[in-house]
Amino acid sequence: MIDSMPPSPIDMQPLLTKDTLFAALTHGATIITPNNRLCHQLLEDYFAHTHTSVNPKPRCLPYQAFLQERYKKARHLYANQVHPLLLTTTQQRHLWQQILSSHPSYAYHEGLQQEIQEAWTHCLQWNIDHQHPSFQQTPQTLQFQRWWLQFEKKLTELQALTEAQLEKYLLSYPDLFTSTPAVWACFDDFTPQQRLLQQGMREQGAQQYGYDLEDKPTTTLLFAAKDGEEEFLQMIAWVQQKIAAQESRIAIVIPDLDTQSHRIQRLLQRHIPSHQFNISLGQSLSDFPIAAHALVWLNLDPLNFTHHQACLLLHSPYLAGSKSEFIARADMMQDNRILQEPTLSFTALIASLKRTTPILADLLHTLSPYPLDASITEWVHLFKSRLTHLGFPGEYPLDSKTYQCFQRFVLLLDEYLQLSVITPILKKEDALNALNTLAKSTIFQSKTSKTPLQLLGLLEASGCTFDSIWVSGLTDQCLPQKSRLSAFIPLELQRSLAMPHALPERELQFAEQSLKRLQNGSQNSVFSYPRLTGDTPNLPSPLVDHLPPFIAQDNASTTHTLSKLLEHNENYQLPLMPTESISGGTTLLANQAKCPFRAFAMHRLYAIRAPSLSDGPDASERGQIMHKIMELLWRALESQQQLLSLSEVALNQQIDAIIRDAINPLIQENSPSFSSLIQDVEIARLKRLVSACLAWEKQRPPFVVEALEQEFIIPLVGIDFRVRIDRLDKTSTDTKCVIDYKSSLPPNKPWNEERPDAPQLLLYALLDNQINTLLFIQLKSGQVLCSGISDDTIRLEGISCLKKDEVWTEKQQQWRQQLTQLAQEIREGHCPPIPTKESTCQRCDFLHLCRKE
Ligand code: SF4
Repeated sequence: MIDSMPPSPIDMQPLLTKDTLFAALTHGATIITPNNRLCHQLLEDYFAHTHTSVNPKPRCLPYQAFLQERYKKARHLYANQVHPLLLTTTQQRHLWQQILSSHPSYAYHEGLQQEIQEAWTHCLQWNIDHQHPSFQQTPQTLQFQRWWLQFEKKLTELQALTEAQLEKYLLSYPDLFTSTPAVWACFDDFTPQQRLLQQGMREQGAQQYGYDLEDKPTTTLLFAAKDGEEEFLQMIAWVQQKIAAQESRIAIVIPDLDTQSHRIQRLLQRHIPSHQFNISLGQSLSDFPIAAHALVWLNLDPLNFTHHQACLLLHSPYLAGSKSEFIARADMMQDNRILQEPTLSFTALIASLKRTTPILADLLHTLSPYPLDASITEWVHLFKSRLTHLGFPGEYPLDSKTYQCFQRFVLLLDEYLQLSVITPILKKEDALNALNTLAKSTIFQSKTSKTPLQLLGLLEASGCTFDSIWVSGLTDQCLPQKSRLSAFIPLELQRSLAMPHALPERELQFAEQSLKRLQNGSQNSVFSYPRLTGDTPNLPSPLVDHLPPFIAQDNASTTHTLSKLLEHNENYQLPLMPTESISGGTTLLANQAKCPFRAFAMHRLYAIRAPSLSDGPDASERGQIMHKIMELLWRALESQQQLLSLSEVALNQQIDAIIRDAINPLIQENSPSFSSLIQDVEIARLKRLVSACLAWEKQRPPFVVEALEQEFIIPLVGIDFRVRIDRLDKTSTDTKCVIDYKSSLPPNKPWNEERPDAPQLLLYALLDNQINTLLFIQLKSGQVLCSGISDDTIRLEGISCLKKDEVWTEKQQQWRQQLTQLAQEIREGHCPPIPTKESTCQRCDFLHLCRKE
């Protein structure tokens, strides 16, 4: 059952030219446009056309604004009657959200809400009755019908109506349109509801006209690009020509602009100054950094505080103290162990912030928690108080775009008040969700000065006029669009009523109309498509394949772009300044050997990577614990003889006690992710590892531990290398053995390399002439592996002795020369990004800094 048969289109007198359109506007007619952009352009053209700075305000309105204006007039004319409340988009969305999220078996998501709202609006526009029997046909249509009824019931309770119901409401007033001649400009088609409105307006005596761009001879060419890249480069070259020819209205139309806008903007910025183009597509307010940061502040919950929130608090410029504590906050981001936790203890974070960033610590310490529920007015007050308390929007001056965005966000909080019509009280979670949804669904675009180039979507460009226009991406998949039926409206209704996207014939007709209007809007048009998208071949839209070809420019990729590039020779020789001190111990030499730029970045620029998240101790902390255990253990044991003399039980007790002593400081830090279960697993792993290590130590020739974790300074070419030796053993033959514990053995043996990238043992070998054995011991995964070199013959796997023709003192001399050479490079500031092995780059944190291709 449909309310009535779709009304036929009414006869409207056509206005054939823009001059007649503007004449009608001058004489008081209302121009109604299908979108905002056309409305703005017509007004702009009208003022240019009339050449006067003072005019009576012309009445040119987008369709929805026209209905709202009439609604206000009805309230004014019939002030003694009770009028229903007209819900705003925010209120309507919230009402739908309430209904949909309360359904037990449908998981609420924004996509579902959008589809339901769209289906409901289409049903109203096509005058479909919710009692139509075909809604019984599928579970989806049946459910949709129930939701529809719930929505209607809510509207009745609230004594409200929505914009989609305005036409019928307005027609219930007899003389609302009498004095309003109307011009319907550049509509593709009219919905049955719009036709009903037009009939009603005619019955009230309103004159109505139609206006569309006049058919005229234009030049339209087709460019079949090899791929998307060629299409883009030719388009840029074409735009640059048009700008050079002083054209002030150039348009690029991208049918899927909503998904492509970020990519296109990035690409355009490489070729065209940003003050010369404007993308006429707003973005969600919550995507702008200042609004996104504000939302994070409003969603802060001391009981559930995440790593992301903590990092944002430290680096956000939109917070009190962001300028005065800039350096301290940046240091905290790098150094604070607590930031490696996925979820943080709020109290522990404040305690650690207090020492270095007291302003931020104080802001968080005095942050007021939210109540469990509150009225909408109270929520707005709480949100505003929190932002004020946190010093939002910070200490830095805001640029024009950011300031506009800030103002929009403040306005958003006022719009939030509109929800009080729907729900007087909201729980905390719902209140925050509603705010997040509102910010996400609010489209924001900052105002910019007029630019010659506009980037538009297909619908926005419709009806507008340009000097030149380029329409890209016109494949057969793009136009005509494929039919796309709603799952919530009975299919037979969608087809029989020719509803949006229901019939291929309708899509074809729209596509023809759109292209025709684009051609009529400009003297010069280029339509283009890529013949390949990735590996997929494309055909042109059948609506454009007959057009004469566009002749591509040679060297389009380099025009106007490469000419601006300056040649610059990098200097990779930056000697140490006389006042400059450099530190880094053996790591400095190791990095210089691996890649000079890496050493430069780490030890002279002090670049370090951001700490990564870790559950429990991270790799570096595990290494430190292991070193500590070995130190404590050998301080207690002192020699191999003592080790051998201990019973298994006594040794195990000692190991157990030492492991607990070593791990205790980490447990004390009380990191939330180092739970008692993970602690038990870690302790068991360490026990296995230490036992395996001691079993290996028992097989070595006898030794006494001479030094543990002892520091030395070794000077090379005027740089003091501060080294800390893990362990130094003295053997029964009065020689010494240096031991370095590793979590994994170096892939190559440094004593055989020309440019040793694990040079610590070689450096230690220079300390003492008695040292004749160098050992790396890998402590990992309950397994002990050894790699070493000795002047003695030691029959243990992994330890090699010198070759027949080699002499230990000569080897020491060779290592000294190699290390001196590396130190000399450091002194001279030799820092090109040339790694000794390509694989070094895979484990390097400075790829973005060195810009190695
Ligand atoms: S990424 Fe490669 S070239 Fe760049 S600094 Fe690191 S190791 Fe050197």
